[in-house]
Amino acid sequence: MPAPSGKVIQSYSPKFNLSQILQTTLDVYDLIKRFQQALLPIVPFHSFHYHHIQTEHGLDIGQRTEHQVSYQLMLEGAMLGDVYLTRKTPFTLEELQQIEHALSELVYPLRNALHYHEAIKNSYTCALTQVGNRAAYNKAIATEIDFSKRHNTPFSLILIDIDKFKNINDKYGHHAGDQLLIWLSNLISQLNRNTDNLFRYGGEEFALILRHTPLDGAHCVAKRLCEQIEHAAFEYQKQSLSVTISAGVATFLADDTAEKIFLRADSALYKAKRSGRNNVCIQT
Ligand code: GH3
Ligand code: MG
Ligand code: MG
Repeated sequence: MPAPSGKVIQSYSPKFNLSQILQTTLDVYDLIKRFQQALLPIVPFHSFHYHHIQTEHGLDIGQRTEHQVSYQLMLEGAMLGDVYLTRKTPFTLEELQQIEHALSELVYPLRNALHYHEAIKNSYTCALTQVGNRAAYNKAIATEIDFSKRHNTPFSLILIDIDKFKNINDKYGHHAGDQLLIWLSNLISQLNRNTDNLFRYGGEEFALILRHTPLDGAHCVAKRLCEQIEHAAFEYQKQSLSVTISAGVATFLADDTAEKIFLRADSALYKAKRSGRNNVCIQT
């Protein structure tokens, strides 16, 4: 059977009163799950799929079968994701109408949930570099401490500070400094296996949280980063500017708090600066 597809426009169906169910959550996954559960008794299906590429939300429930119906959800020009259902027997015309009516109840709550997700994400993201900000760092380090205690695994923290960054601003202007911050965060993210653990916690200061990594491992990572940054060229207006960083490394200890591990890494960073910069120090 060819897959019917179409854009869903808002309409009202007396057969469904989904709106109450769908108004009770702002979590995208939760919302879609509730929608799927509410639809199933009305139009039986074997599998249900939702994907929103922009936010990487996706939900796949059940095994796909041969008959498929798919919809692209849109509201006022905004893409809200794709929904498709599959079944072993063809969908009837009446069932297709019921699905469309149900989807028309979904679009507004879904738009609100996606907006909410975006707002939360933005509040944890540095607008300039697109890496996590200080609020994200605070949340991540608390999560990491919990994880480390629960699973009895080590983790380490690397604090990174650009050397003589003020000189770049003074010599080439604030825009050059901004571009350097973007370049450096991209570079560190690329050099790192996990791209979600880098945070800009201050002006030209970054934090890297390394899960499952004891002090010596983190020390190696920091030294490698330091060398790679020294040898990578930051191009600004056809000029190649040399950039170095200093880094301080600390590892999580049994009675640590977020403040304690930060202070140790910060004092290691201070030592690295004092020793002449472009250097890594550890603090036990
Ligand atoms: P050190 O090697 O001791 O770390 O020297 P430094 O020049 O890097 O450190 P200092 O703390 O003296 O200067 C940091 C500068 O970073 C000062 C501040 O104006 C600049 N800065 C902070 N945030 C931003 C930003 O978002 N963009 C730009 N362009 N500059 C920033
Ligand atoms: Mg600094
Ligand atoms: Mg600096």
